[in-house]
Amino acid sequence: MNKNCAIYPGSFDPVHLGHIDIITRSAKIFSSVIIAVAASKSKSPMFSVESRIAMLRESLEGHPGIEIIALDGLLVDFARQHNVFTIIRGLRAVSDFEFEFQMALMNRKLEPRLETVFLTSKEDYTYISSRIIKEVGTMGGDVSHFVPAPVLESLLKAVPKISK
Ligand code: ADP
Repeated sequence: MNKNCAIYPGSFDPVHLGHIDIITRSAKIFSSVIIAVAASKSKSPMFSVESRIAMLRESLEGHPGIEIIALDGLLVDFARQHNVFTIIRGLRAVSDFEFEFQMALMNRKLEPRLETVFLTSKEDYTYISSRIIKEVGTMGGDVSHFVPAPVLESLLKAVPKISK
């Protein structure tokens, strides 16, 4: 079991500054962090896994100890495959808690070695979510304060209406 590494799973559709904050803080705790980009087909993502990975890669350029890998299937299988059993999740508000609690318990039931570590969101980013960024952005709102520059570029390409 690699105890120096943790997995941060999510859809990252697209990655935003709330995610980046969790990633950079996790990288200070663990020697390495694997960002597992879930296919999340049931959520009908706006961006393909490949472009979500590309945006993460560009946004995190120069940050050491971070690996970005596609996740298609169960997180427990991914964890076993990589021999990493610490999962990081971000908590924004009480509303995140119920689902996250359920997921953490289910994952531990499926794989008893799996532990989920929760990092609380930075105050400035508590209200940010990929969903709200897409909603505001596609209606022409300025989302430049919520996403890294490469994501803003991709959003502008995907939705010409987004203001600069
Ligand atoms: P999912 O598809 O699992 O909901 P997301 O890409 O939305 O994935 O989020 C991945 C992880 O990042 C989750 O643990 C989520 O709680 C966390 N997260 C999302 N937005 C924020 C934020 N603004 N601040 C901190 N953590 C966040």
